[in-house]
Amino acid sequence: MNALVQSLAKMSGLRDRDALDFALVQLVLDCSEGAVQSACLVRVVGEGDDRRCLTLARLEAGQNEPVRDVVWTDWTLLPHVTDYPMRQQALERVRAVHSKGAPFTGVLPLPGVPGAAALLEITSTEPLNARTLDLVQGVLQTYNNLLGLLDYGEKDALTELLNRKTFDGAFFKATADHRTEDNNQGPDRRVSSPDEGVWLAVLDIDHFKRVNDNFGHLIGDEVLLLLARLMRASFRFHDQLYRFGGEEFVILMRCDSVDHAHAALERLRLRVQEYAFPQVGTITVSIGCSVLLPNDTPSGAFGRADKAVYHAKEHGRNQVCNYQALVASGLIVEQAAENMDVDLF
Ligand code: GH3
Ligand code: MG
Ligand code: MG
Repeated sequence: MNALVQSLAKMSGLRDRDALDFALVQLVLDCSEGAVQSACLVRVVGEGDDRRCLTLARLEAGQNEPVRDVVWTDWTLLPHVTDYPMRQQALERVRAVHSKGAPFTGVLPLPGVPGAAALLEITSTEPLNARTLDLVQGVLQTYNNLLGLLDYGEKDALTELLNRKTFDGAFFKATADHRTEDNNQGPDRRVSSPDEGVWLAVLDIDHFKRVNDNFGHLIGDEVLLLLARLMRASFRFHDQLYRFGGEEFVILMRCDSVDHAHAALERLRLRVQEYAFPQVGTITVSIGCSVLLPNDTPSGAFGRADKAVYHAKEHGRNQVCNYQALVASGLIVEQAAENMDVDLF
């Protein structure tokens, strides 16, 4: 019990979601005193008939380190929820489901936002007793409370998108992940190239002042909320969506070509243009983007994408502009990296 309290104390000090996921499965195994054979934390991504399972952390008894799916994993490689009837049942019933025979499996749902539910799947050689199940539920509740605290600090209260505080960390993590994979494929590969890489896009609503002036701030806020929903629906689960403040949004996404990056942003632009916002009617957005470069900095990349937004605004708004394409076609002049720094914070 002493060790359990210490592990809980250690977990409550974590500020990194991946580390928290790993600590959860470790604690579940530890608190069961050998009864649990494996613990697997699964995030359910997607909606409707196409929900899939992304393993956030999985630990087997006797293993030292949990394992997880690569977060940038190809969506089509993830297994469907329907491949796991117990997971599906737990999601539908929103309560724990236990198998009746060996191997004994329990699937416990964690409350989550729609489209981002999570499940804990545990297996044991014998049915777990009530005390162990209580402990597991307690650990799960603690994990959930800690996640709530992280969300509170990292998410924008209005839209529930990430706030800019978390951007630098995510930026360096995304580029580091990409670099690691590149290194695995040969020492001479670039960190990223115009064909395959991580992209940063900045989105600014066109003439948003008019929305506030004509309909009031509350309706303006509702537009921001609905826009955030359109963004979530337009991008993949591992793309990172931020509200940087006001009516400015940032997207950090991984794409295998410039065309795919452009198509994803263009899809969002069109969805916004076609959406009927209550009272306001239609709005449009201007989007600027840039691929991340080797040794890029958050402010350097943001500065390039922002320059592309500025160009979009100056040339009719309601369009997607790519910084590198603008430079290549001579429409804007490339600036030295040190001049691209903008005051982000
Ligand atoms: P442009 O097409 O050039 O971007 O024109 P704009 O009117 O959108 O200009 P700008 O981006 O400079 O204006 C931002 C406006 O967004 C100013 C302010 O009225 C509004 N705004 C900023 N933050 C909020 C917010 O949290 N809620 C609401 N309702 N409005 C906000
Ligand atoms: Mg603005
Ligand atoms: Mg604007």
